[in-house]
Amino acid sequence: MNTFNFCESNCRDSLKVAIVGGGVSGLSSAYFLLREAKTRGVRIEPTIFEARSDLGGVVKTVRHGGLVLDMGPECFVSTKPAVGEIARELHFDSRIITQAERRTFIAEASALREVPEGLLSMNPNIPALLMSRLFSSRAKVRLAAEPLIRRGNNSGDESVADFVSRRFGIEFLERLAEPLIGGLYGADPSMLSAKASMPHLVGLEIAHGSVFVGMAKDRCRQLIEHDRQRTLAKSNAGTMSTFDGGMGVLVDELKASLGTRVRIINSQVVFLCRYGGANKWLIGSRDRKKEWFDAIMIALPGPAAAPLLFSVDESLSCALSSIKYSSPAVVSMVFEQAALAEPLKGSGFLVPKSIRRSVRACTFSSNKFRREMTREHVVLRASCNVADAKSSDEEIKLAAVDELRDYLKILEEPIFSIVARHENAIPQFAPGYENLLALIERRKAALPGFALVGNAFGGMGVSDCVMRARLESERLLEQIEF
Ligand SMILES: Cc1cc2nc3c(=O)[nH]c(=O)nc-3n(C[C@H](O)[C@H](O)[C@H](O)COP(=O)(O)OP(=O)(O)OC[C@H]3O[C@@H](n4cnc5c(N)ncnc54)[C@H](O)[C@@H]3O)c2cc1C
Repeated sequence: MNTFNFCESNCRDSLKVAIVGGGVSGLSSAYFLLREAKTRGVRIEPTIFEARSDLGGVVKTVRHGGLVLDMGPECFVSTKPAVGEIARELHFDSRIITQAERRTFIAEASALREVPEGLLSMNPNIPALLMSRLFSSRAKVRLAAEPLIRRGNNSGDESVADFVSRRFGIEFLERLAEPLIGGLYGADPSMLSAKASMPHLVGLEIAHGSVFVGMAKDRCRQLIEHDRQRTLAKSNAGTMSTFDGGMGVLVDELKASLGTRVRIINSQVVFLCRYGGANKWLIGSRDRKKEWFDAIMIALPGPAAAPLLFSVDESLSCALSSIKYSSPAVVSMVFEQAALAEPLKGSGFLVPKSIRRSVRACTFSSNKFRREMTREHVVLRASCNVADAKSSDEEIKLAAVDELRDYLKILEEPIFSIVARHENAIPQFAPGYENLLALIERRKAALPGFALVGNAFGGMGVSDCVMRARLESERLLEQIEF
C-alpha cells in the first residue's frame, strides 16, 4: 500500500489536480487547467484517472477502410464556440467540416415524410410548411396561431410535452417534437423539463410572449447589427459540424496537446475522501494505489460520481444519483452504393415512439457530412433504444438493418457493421431539474478545491461539456491559486 508523506505533498510548489474521468469533459478540463495555469503563472500537475484503457469516453470513431464511423457523438454545435476555440488554438480548425445536407425526415409506418424547411430551427419556410404532408391542415393552422397563444404561467417547471403542445399544438408534439427528442436524448418529452432542455425557446416565450415572434425579432436584430451579406452567409452555413476524421479527432488532438504534461492513470477510481483541515483529497483507484491531491475535478456521469462522493457530502451524492440517464446503442453500417435501390435523400430520419421501433433515429452519415472517401459507399448510423439490455450486439444489429430495410430500399446486407452500447450516457433533465442543479452547485461551491464537469451540468452536447470544463477549470484555479 502507498503511504502518504503529508509534509512532502504540502511543501510542493505546484498544485496536484486529479481529474476523474477521461471523456471529453475530463480531457478538455486538463487542457484548460494547463492553459489557465500558464496565464496565471501557476505550476500545476494534472492527473487523469480513466477506468477504461482508452480516453474519450463516449466519443469514439472507428475507421474502416478509410470510412469514418462515429460510435458516439457524430457532430457538435458550431454556433457554441468552445470546440472551435480549442481547434483554433491547437491548429486543427482546418479539419472542421460543416453539415452538407440538412433535410430531415420523420418515419411513418411505411414511408418517410420530410420536415418542412426551417421548422427544426423554428424559422419555417411558409410555402414548404403549407405543402408539407407531415401535418394535417388543422395542425398547420394551429402552428400558425402560435403568436396568438397567451404566454404561459412560467412560475413552475413545465414538461417539454406540455410546453410544446401548449404553444404549437398536440400534432406538432407528436409528429415532430417527440421523435426529435426521442432521437436526440432517447427521452420521453413528458419526462423532461422544458426550462432545462429547451431554455432558449422558454426564454423567447418569457421575453416576447411567442417563440416565433421572438425568433423573428432575433433575426431582425442580427440583420440590423451585422452586415447583411455576412449574416445571410452565416445563416446558410451549417450549425452542426464535425471533423474530417470524425469526432475522434477532437480526442486525438487533445491527447496530443496534453502530451507528457498530464499523467494518465488507466484505473477506475473506487474511493475519495477529503481531509478538510489541510484541504487535501485522497483518491484510491482499483489498482490499489492511493494518492493525495490539492484539488479534484469530477468528470463523470451522475451515477458514477454519486458513490464516490457519498463520504464527502451525502446530499451532493444523493442529488447526483437522482439524475436519470438513458443508455442508447449506436449501430454503424457500411453498404455498397448498389445495395440501396434508390439514392438517399437528406441527412436522416427520426422515428416517433408511436410506431414502436427500436431505431429512434437514423443518420445518413455519408450524406450529412460529405467526406471524399465515401463516394462508393453509404454509411448509416442508427441510434437505438435497447429495451432489453440482454439483447446481444448481433440481435441489435439485425433488428436495426431489418427496420431500415423498407424505408431505405436496402437490397443487400451491410458489408460492415458495428455496435456501441453507451450505458448511463445521456442525462434526462426531468421537471425540477433547475432546483436540483442549484442544490448541486451550492454543495459543490462549499467544497474547496472541488469542481464538477460533465454533461449533466451545463448542457449535454460536446460543445456544452467543453464550455463547462473551461468555466470550472478557471473557477478552480482562481479558488486554489497560491
Ligand atoms: C450515442 C451518443 C450520441 C451523442 N451524439 C451527440 C452529438 O452528435 N453531438 C453532441 O454534441 N453530443 C452528443 N452526445 C452527447 C455527448 O457526446 C456527451 O454528452 C459527452 O461526450 C459526454 O462527455 P463526458 O466526458 O462528460 O462523459 P463520458 O464520455 O461519459 O466520460 C466519462 C468517463 O469517465 C470514465 N469513468 C467512469 N467512472 C469512472 C471512475 N470511477 N474512475 C475513472 N473513470 C471513470 C468513463 O470510462 C468515461 O470514459 C451523444 C452522446 C451519446 C452517448
